[in-house]
Amino acid sequence: MTARICAVPNCGNPAASDYSPHCKRHKSALRRHGAPDQRGITKAELAPFTARIEARIAKNPDSEAWTLMEAAWATIVAEAKSTASHRIGNRYQRSAANEIAAIALDCAPGEVTVTVLGMVLFWHDRPLRFASDEALRVQIARRVRALSQRHVGLRYEHRTGQHVRVYREMTPKAAGTVGRKLLTAFGGVGLQLAALDERDRKAEQEAKLRLATALSNLK
Ligand SMILES: [Zn+2]
Repeated sequence: MTARICAVPNCGNPAASDYSPHCKRHKSALRRHGAPDQRGITKAELAPFTARIEARIAKNPDSEAWTLMEAAWATIVAEAKSTASHRIGNRYQRSAANEIAAIALDCAPGEVTVTVLGMVLFWHDRPLRFASDEALRVQIARRVRALSQRHVGLRYEHRTGQHVRVYREMTPKAAGTVGRKLLTAFGGVGLQLAALDERDRKAEQEAKLRLATALSNLK
């Protein structure tokens, strides 16, 4: 029997099993993060991007855009609740619906939309940080889900006699489905907001350049 090697370039570790194209570590990353070579987007990494979204909202507090987006999230939640309670759709759709319903229980709609829009800005500015489209969808789902405490449980550790927080993972298919719904609803808006940021950045640069030119022309 020949030992299989992980399919990720330059990994070189043995495959997790005869049926797995990936080693243990990359198999786990594929399940959790949507691609074998995807690292999770952290809250700290996302923070500058959500800050830009929040700044845009603060600049336009009365814009109907934010209310409409919260309404779009409310529609996603209503659909999810209906899927979850009527037991329609397949197992994966129901699992995604349950995730969305759980997120909606303890997250403000504004938090959800800012997080998704921030992720779209992140993707726009640093596309290579996402290994694939599926990885993008999964990372969006994970960041939004992390806003909720619903998936964090406690487990009693006999060894230490203490309760430890445990993280209940989403199934890969549910994560992909949740991410797809959020990206469909908010992806276009996120890209438009990215274009506005670029416009502002250019205007700022031009102003700096004009000032520098004016200064160099002083007598
Ligand atoms: Zn590997």
